[in-house]
Amino acid sequence: MTGINTTVVHADRDVQPSNAVAPPIYQTATFGADDAAAFAHAASEPRGKDFYTRFGNPNHAQVAAVVAELEGTEAALVTASGMAALTTTVLALVSAGDHVIGQKSTYGGTASLLLTLLPRFGVTTTQVDQTDPGAFERAVTDRSRLILLETPSNPLLQVTDLRAVADLARAHGVITLADNTFATPVNQRPADLGVDLVWHSATKYLNGHSDVLAGVVAGPERLLDKVWETALLTGATLGPFDAWLLLRGLRTLPLRMQVHNANGIALANALDNHPAITRVHYPGLAGHPQHALASSQMSGFGGVLGVEFAGGFHAADDFIGHLRHFRRSASLGGVESLAVHPASMWRGMLSEENIAASGVPLGLIRLACGIEDANDLLEDVLGAASALDS
Ligand SMILES: *Cc1c(COP(=O)(O)O)cnc(C)c1O
Repeated sequence: MTGINTTVVHADRDVQPSNAVAPPIYQTATFGADDAAAFAHAASEPRGKDFYTRFGNPNHAQVAAVVAELEGTEAALVTASGMAALTTTVLALVSAGDHVIGQKSTYGGTASLLLTLLPRFGVTTTQVDQTDPGAFERAVTDRSRLILLETPSNPLLQVTDLRAVADLARAHGVITLADNTFATPVNQRPADLGVDLVWHSATKYLNGHSDVLAGVVAGPERLLDKVWETALLTGATLGPFDAWLLLRGLRTLPLRMQVHNANGIALANALDNHPAITRVHYPGLAGHPQHALASSQMSGFGGVLGVEFAGGFHAADDFIGHLRHFRRSASLGGVESLAVHPASMWRGMLSEENIAASGVPLGLIRLACGIEDANDLLEDVLGAASALDS
């Protein structure tokens, strides 16, 4: 088996559309065919690359080849954003009357899909405590169709036992779909643990430069063919130039993750036990309640950590104001470090009730370490934490 650094550089070799070493951008909405038979074939080939860009595009095919190899799946489908990947996949797999299980600690968009969109179409949903695999099992009914997993979760970094949930889901004939955005296939490969489908906000680590919104879903062809048919209807197509940028970002994913992982653990260790901080949420910390599970299914722990301030909402907000290298921004996974205060960000989007239901403490900051020098980031966060006392 080739190594991961070779995979990201060469896994698209078979779908490279020309001899150009840096691939051309197929900035075209549509493609011509020489005769009726070729036209009919191009129109019906799942994730084909030369019919009409909503059906597929050479730039999509290159990204998909690399992601499928990274995740260890048969195929992958590229979408216009992470949310497009999730919504398209869920709509492809469920019908009115079905039941979907998700996690209590999960990305805000995933929670909204479960709480508001699906119920409008007669799909019932249940959110469970993902730290207990038994909670998933207890939630399964004879109408359960899909389990949405996310580990580590956003923004509490809670860990889900992927193998345990994948096993119980299979026993009940339920499909599992895991959000692997935080871990990336460098740190965790859910398909190896039995999860059926893996999706990403490729906006984050996969692209890595905060300049593209994109999504991807990877898995077996029989499921991805269905997702592709629905993608034709949701129309959440990634632009060819954005796919080209995403491929360029993927080429350095393992290199970048090494630094994100190193910065993440360095900051987690430095902030753990700081007097202004009540808790650091980072599964790489030896004292994290799920450290053993995390270590069994992850080879690194990423650059995102949750930091909970003793002074609550105001201390958290104040802390961000003192940071110099971390910018106040709602994203993660890029080369630059970003910080966000979920409680103040969500005030404009979620009801107080839903903020409380998410279990996110008011004094929690999500720090997303970029690839800057660890010493500079350490100085930044320790300086900002000390400034709180004065
Ligand atoms: C950002 C994010 C998403 C949503 O992805 P978009 O590309 O913004 O649509 C989903 N899951 C997680 C964990 C995320 O961080």
